[in-house]
Amino acid sequence: MKFEDLGLEENILKALTEAGYDTPTPIQAQAIPEALKGRDVLGIAQTGTGKTASFTIPLIHRLAQGRAKARMPRSVVLAPTRELAAQVSESFEAYGKYHKLTMALLIGGVSFADQDAKLARGVDVLIATPGRLLDHYERGKLLLSGVQVMVVDEADRMLDMGFIPDIEKIFNLTPFTRQTLFFSATMPPEIQRITNQFLSAPARVEVARQSTTAENITQRVVHMPSGNDSLKRATLRKLIRDTEVKNGIIFCNRKKNVDIVAKSLQKHDFNARPIHGDLPQAYRTETLQKFRDGEISLLIASDVAARGLDIPDVSHVFNFDVPVNAEDYVHRIGRTGRAGRSGHAYMLVCPSDDKAYAAVLKTTGLEKIDPVDMGDFFDEEQKSGGKTRGGRNSRKSGDDKTHDQKSGDSKPSNERRSRSHREKDEPVVGLGDHVPAFLLRDAS
Ligand code: AMP
Repeated sequence: MKFEDLGLEENILKALTEAGYDTPTPIQAQAIPEALKGRDVLGIAQTGTGKTASFTIPLIHRLAQGRAKARMPRSVVLAPTRELAAQVSESFEAYGKYHKLTMALLIGGVSFADQDAKLARGVDVLIATPGRLLDHYERGKLLLSGVQVMVVDEADRMLDMGFIPDIEKIFNLTPFTRQTLFFSATMPPEIQRITNQFLSAPARVEVARQSTTAENITQRVVHMPSGNDSLKRATLRKLIRDTEVKNGIIFCNRKKNVDIVAKSLQKHDFNARPIHGDLPQAYRTETLQKFRDGEISLLIASDVAARGLDIPDVSHVFNFDVPVNAEDYVHRIGRTGRAGRSGHAYMLVCPSDDKAYAAVLKTTGLEKIDPVDMGDFFDEEQKSGGKTRGGRNSRKSGDDKTHDQKSGDSKPSNERRSRSHREKDEPVVGLGDHVPAFLLRDAS
């Protein structure tokens, strides 16, 4: 199916072609025709499925006819966060570039006076977070009785953020005859109740999260010679340096490892931050915001923390550990390569990960995942006994030394020397991967 088959206005098709889209995503193919018929739509879809366009496109189509009156927006889009609201407005600008639709944004961080002036002139589309919209309404700056279409985006996130009473209020201020396009990634009972109350015989369209791994994701593994965590961190740094990482998520199986990997990367001058359930909410929110804004380029996460996070498409996913549940592998790497873009996924596989790795292959239906050619990296690492693991950066800044001093460890250099001596000359027999912890301690 092509966008031309959906019966859209010529000007929208032109804008879509220029945006580089010719094939609707599944949620678009299902939702757009229903919305064009004027039906209410209940869309169950996550970010990354193309859901934003599935409501902006029919909205532009419908608003192409008619004009807005002062202080009476013709449509309202409610979004839980200002970033999401801003994303929706960008979508309108892109697909509506050949329409003269007017738009106001009522979100934090955008000048109240400017938006009020726009509202006073009349807007076709009002994009808002619920609280801001009610603020304007209560000041008598806004009338919702002319709303023909109301869109609710990411309703389940609004529920998490306590916005449901505000949304109910806003629904009740709009005409009963409005068309409603309602999107949520999940349908908890409270959201079900709202849709029963405010949607009228909706077309229910649903796209499941992809359960198989997308073809546009390049997957690679690194077969580690041992399960040494410090060597894993050195390998991770090499991968990040060698591949063009715009932004990436590094997954670890345990919270403790999330913290260690994050600290280590920060120490090596990477722009990285951890995110897991034990960190304060304010820190998590700030971290995510900075990651979305591109101020932080690497996020180190646990599976639980990453679930349900609204994270934009990332260029790389690194599996520092092979996930315990193979299904998590699919979820993890699904963070990259969204909506047809290309993505890259790397995974470190240690000898002890054999079973978990086999489970990943089984779940993804892959016979094998191509290994990265690491050249003589592991040999070099082994020869240097980990001393070069800091790479050029850290050696220059003397990080190793600082770390020893900071940790108050009085013997590390001796320990390291004896370890390097042993690694060089005589392999440790009988210990396998289970080298005593103190031998593995180093600066990274
Ligand atoms: P969304 O799920 O709405 O956040 O969209 C995810 C990404 O997919 C956005 O960056 C869109 O620009 C992109 N996108 C949406 N629809 C299409 C399409 N039909 N073809 C290609 N990319 C799309």
